[in-house]
Amino acid sequence: MVDEYSIYIHIPFCVSKCIYCDFVSSPCNGKIPEKEYAHKLICELECRLEHVNSRRLKSVYIGGGTPSLLQAETIIKILETCKTDKTSDIEVTVEANPKDQSLSWFKELIDGGVNRFSIGIQSMNDTTLKWMGRRHSVKDAISAIESARNAGCKNLSADFIYGIPGQDISVIKSELTSLLQLNPDHLSAYELTVSKETPLYKLKNLKYPANSQLSQMWETVVSTTDTLGYTMYEVSNFAKNKKRSVHNSNYWSGGEYLGIGAGAHGHIKMGNERYRYENTRLIDTYLNTPIDNSKTKNQFLETGIEENIIKISSKEYAQEIVMLGLRTKSGIDLNHLKDILTKDEYTSYFRIFLSLAKNGLITIENNYAKPSQKAIIIADELALKFF
Ligand code: SF4
Repeated sequence: MVDEYSIYIHIPFCVSKCIYCDFVSSPCNGKIPEKEYAHKLICELECRLEHVNSRRLKSVYIGGGTPSLLQAETIIKILETCKTDKTSDIEVTVEANPKDQSLSWFKELIDGGVNRFSIGIQSMNDTTLKWMGRRHSVKDAISAIESARNAGCKNLSADFIYGIPGQDISVIKSELTSLLQLNPDHLSAYELTVSKETPLYKLKNLKYPANSQLSQMWETVVSTTDTLGYTMYEVSNFAKNKKRSVHNSNYWSGGEYLGIGAGAHGHIKMGNERYRYENTRLIDTYLNTPIDNSKTKNQFLETGIEENIIKISSKEYAQEIVMLGLRTKSGIDLNHLKDILTKDEYTSYFRIFLSLAKNGLITIENNYAKPSQKAIIIADELALKFF
């Protein structure tokens, strides 16, 4: 079987910073070094691709930051380097901010091989959007979805955030219903997280929902999506007509991927060893460090722009597969675990799976350990049993 991999390309620019954002993104106020950055991405891609050319590419995801600040022509050039075209069956997703939408931008990208858009709607309430520091309004969100559809987009995902201070179940239900009435094919619904170093962290006296309320909110998201024809396939992801994200599913099953761009992460197997790398988060360092492509195949991760390169042990990799798999409906491929672990390690994992099954938290079917809905929400806690 040919090994498969995905490519993630990071565009670390935004017009301004949202209050909750801890992604690698720099507020640029309209001035992006678009040409230089795209040139560097292409150099990095060419260097890294040389070493995975015997594997089959299954998806490309251009995320950010705000990829929709780039011209369609620039994105197409980057995709051409990944060797995608519109006749291939590779999933090609581009993230878009509702404020930047234009029919011609969507059309050009679809003609250039993009077959999926992920639109950062986040909320269907203008006051909440403003509080979050988002640039768009509900009207912009509706118009972005219409433009993407009119341009011919057949696979559209929307992002939604819940757990905002002051929100209650009825608000979530009503906002989510309005969003799903716009008929996206896919929904990613995330709980608001407050990371240090964000402006949100510094805001005091906010009344965040308690953990028990957050669980109820998640259940509201699951039941609302279900009523409207969406199936949960990962704790935060819901799809209609089986339009699951191929790219994210690759992450959740422990698949390999190249991360390209400032702040991007990658996971690649070389021979019998697995590695994770993280590129520098500093845009200037990324732009100004020459890429060394003179290395041999086994050193291809050391191009000079990485901040971290870590070798992952089989045990760590197996723990990660369990942790991510417990958050998905399809669960954990036990044959895959058997291949990674020693016989003794696998036996002790299997014992834990059996005890979870006895407690009704998972089922074991056709060599997959599949979590129940009750287990999915406590997946992180259950995963600790394997550490
Ligand atoms: S648009 Fe996304 S990446 Fe940019 S600041 Fe807002 S949350 Fe962060």
